[in-house]
Amino acid sequence: MYLEAIEIVFIQPCLADANKIRFKAVFSRDIAGVLPYLNAVLPNATYNHEGQVLTFVREGRLFTLYPRELAVAKAANTTDAYRLIDWLKDLINATYERRDELKPDYSLRSRPKPLEIYGWLPRTNCRKCGELTCLAFAAKLLLGEQRLERCAPLFTAEYAHLKEPLLEIVAALGL
Ligand code: SF4
Repeated sequence: MYLEAIEIVFIQPCLADANKIRFKAVFSRDIAGVLPYLNAVLPNATYNHEGQVLTFVREGRLFTLYPRELAVAKAANTTDAYRLIDWLKDLINATYERRDELKPDYSLRSRPKPLEIYGWLPRTNCRKCGELTCLAFAAKLLLGEQRLERCAPLFTAEYAHLKEPLLEIVAALGL
């Protein structure tokens, strides 16, 4: 078996939501070689080959993989954490087994620009978030100086179609 084990080394409450947990775990071997293949099979992954870091969101949980360790945020509880690492271990081993059929993807998917985030906002410049414009809000969001929850209109039924994609983007960026 390519990867024998993933061992949790700490669990703490999530910074953004104390009802959820974040945890770190270590791989029983260096998985750097499989990261470009995982990038190829995970459609929503963000990969930096030079920095050897791969992030993606699954079921609302944010995964960050490095060659030797893993960080996960927004897990429901400890049971959920063990379920997630079982799933990830199976994914890594299955991807490694299929590596001859897969094309490794080394592409760097860069962080979105404020205008791209702006495109997912209501774009009414209503100022309810405390910013003069939605574009200013988008720029501060990317800098970690604003929180998505401050855009109240986004959480109304009128903009429900924008909320979910934007929540995924923000989670994938670790914001
Ligand atoms: S609250 Fe939302 S819609 Fe209103 S200005 Fe801020 S980002 Fe734009």
